[in-house]
Amino acid sequence: MTPTRSAEPYDYDFAIAGGGPAGCATAIRLREHGHSVVLLERDTFPRFHIGESLLSTANDAFVTLGVAERIAAAGFPEKWGARLVTHDGKSGRGVNFGTVREVRRPQTYQVSRAEFDMILLDRAREVGAEVREGVRVTGCEFTRDAAHVDYADEGSPGRLRVRALVDATGRNGLLARKFDLRADEPLLANIAIYSHYKKVPRLADGCPNDIRIIAREDAGWFWFIPISDELTSVGVVLPQSLFLAMEEATPEERFDRTLRDTMAVAELMRDAERAWPVRVEKDFSYSASKYAGERWILAGDAGSFLDPVFSTGVSIALESGIEAADELDRARKTNDFSEKRFAAFSRRQKKRFEIFRRFVIGFYTPEFRDLFFQPDPPPTLFRSVTTVLAGRWDPSLRMRLLNRVFFALVAVQKRFAIAQRAFRRDAGAGYPR
Ligand SMILES: Cc1cc2nc3c(=O)[nH]c(=O)nc-3n(C[C@H](O)[C@H](O)[C@H](O)COP(=O)(O)OP(=O)(O)OC[C@H]3O[C@@H](n4cnc5c(N)ncnc54)[C@H](O)[C@@H]3O)c2cc1C
Repeated sequence: MTPTRSAEPYDYDFAIAGGGPAGCATAIRLREHGHSVVLLERDTFPRFHIGESLLSTANDAFVTLGVAERIAAAGFPEKWGARLVTHDGKSGRGVNFGTVREVRRPQTYQVSRAEFDMILLDRAREVGAEVREGVRVTGCEFTRDAAHVDYADEGSPGRLRVRALVDATGRNGLLARKFDLRADEPLLANIAIYSHYKKVPRLADGCPNDIRIIAREDAGWFWFIPISDELTSVGVVLPQSLFLAMEEATPEERFDRTLRDTMAVAELMRDAERAWPVRVEKDFSYSASKYAGERWILAGDAGSFLDPVFSTGVSIALESGIEAADELDRARKTNDFSEKRFAAFSRRQKKRFEIFRRFVIGFYTPEFRDLFFQPDPPPTLFRSVTTVLAGRWDPSLRMRLLNRVFFALVAVQKRFAIAQRAFRRDAGAGYPR
């Protein structure tokens, strides 16, 4: 690290690379703490982004960020939980966030990310962050006194001198790549294929807009997320081994095959009309060896990413963005931006990732699915699982103990059938081992 002149003024206190939920949350919160902020976003909003189903805990972030009323007024479909359906359509059990005592506001939303991200970016501007769209961060350097951020604005290069840089570039991972921080999760090497559809029937009961998670007979699964009165986001997630084994040539053909070969899905898609071309996205999960260093900090997917089965991404991104801003505010007060200073922040990011990861890894085993999709699980036990799935990853001791019991039962189910074995276990089912 090369020392620089400390008398040199800063262009802003903090720079944020990326204007998704993590970057906007950091920007808004840093402004609330009174710091000057520049946010550099590569794209021009509104823009498409996948990641449409939120958790209850996102509501707490909305209140902190001052957007709760705007989100409520935007007309996004209301989400109260999930409907779990087996491939043959025989189980239709609900996961109801309303049963969770440890969340303040259970009802959340399914969002069109183009609109949702725009609300957050507008809010960042409104509270005084300098938001520059169409500006890509191309590199950075860290010295004892400053972070130097290089960018390209419509092809013209520029450099900013700030106290610290927040990397919120999502899966692009500006700093994770620079410092080689990222480790892929070998058990979650998955591929997602998806699009938006019209004419997909909604759930018939009181929560018509809940997410449907439909298990395939193999290790894959589908999501159905209503994102407006007309459109439903439909996607399939497959372990890479199953995706590569498909004979179909184009993304459309591959997707159509998966939509046809699962009875419960074929039924729902009978009259569906696709609104956009099919997209294929690598959704390999990963985490970072550390989440902050001298004059830099990671927020959202720039730090870690988990397979989307439990819709954790946006809610974690908002939470970690707020935490990054609070951490930088504390660092600014003592003018200590050292890695040591950020150790507790890094630990918290790791802990949250580990807790959600356990559930996600579990979901890619048949024994977890046997219990998870069971029509009548013990209510108290299942409430402890729902508590975490509503976003409360650090629940009360009682809920943590009940979660342990749940995972103990999953371990028993692997050897002895305490619940009906409803899922394939042969090697061709594609479960990671
Ligand atoms: C298939 C799939 C389905 C998903 N489903 C869900 C779901 O249902 N619910 C959920 O909560 N999450 C879901 N996710 C996860 C969700 O998309 C992310 O977790 C979430 O968007 C993370 O927010 P973020 O702000 O960290 O990153 P992003 O939202 O990706 O934002 C990063 C921003 O940085 C910008 N950027 C990148 N590089 C640069 C650069 N060099 N300079 C400047 N700007 C840059 C990008 O343009 C982007 O706007 C899903 C993900 C996948 C892959």
